[in-house]
Amino acid sequence: MPVQLRFQTGLTGADYVTREGWRLASLTHCPLHPRGGCGFARHGTYERVSPPGTRIARWYCRQGHQSFSLLPDFLAARFPGTLREIEDVLAAVEQAKSVEAAADQLRSDDVTLVSAVRWVRRRVAAVRALLTIVIGLFPQLLLGCTPTMVSLRERFACEHVLIVLREVAELHLQALAPPLGFKHPAYRGGERNERIQHEMGPDPPR
Ligand SMILES: [Zn+2]
Repeated sequence: MPVQLRFQTGLTGADYVTREGWRLASLTHCPLHPRGGCGFARHGTYERVSPPGTRIARWYCRQGHQSFSLLPDFLAARFPGTLREIEDVLAAVEQAKSVEAAADQLRSDDVTLVSAVRWVRRRVAAVRALLTIVIGLFPQLLLGCTPTMVSLRERFACEHVLIVLREVAELHLQALAPPLGFKHPAYRGGERNERIQHEMGPDPPR
């Protein structure tokens, strides 16, 4: 499974696709062997299902048998889609009377309420746990914040805060869980990244 690294593009998902942002990605040296000599080289790209047309630049270290990918800031890590889409789900839950009510509102007709609730709960659980950790990591900056979109958007005076937190928590991304951080899920018998992404949840219910 590739080690994910942050790609600070400043591009939205649509711009990244139309401008083929993966071509702008660069890794000047191997993260494992900064002095080189390990056969580190660009190793093509792989495709993400959503947003359609999104490709991710990849490198491979021959000596370390490890691939690396540069994930642009707008994308959720190891979840389908973008950080903004996940943030919208959390915000909808915060506004709704219950998780069930939010899931019912977000789902399309061909998705059962049970699976929509499961889909929403997975995102709520992952993000709330992350927000609690991030608030603890930056006590001075985030003192008094609750692990909610409303509270954190207000603190940073921004419309969408998960993408801001990817930058704020940059030094901790390898230790933080998806969808914000790049921590590896538990090793599961050599399954490939795509399959684990699929297990993390299907594409949005709308
Ligand atoms: Zn290397």
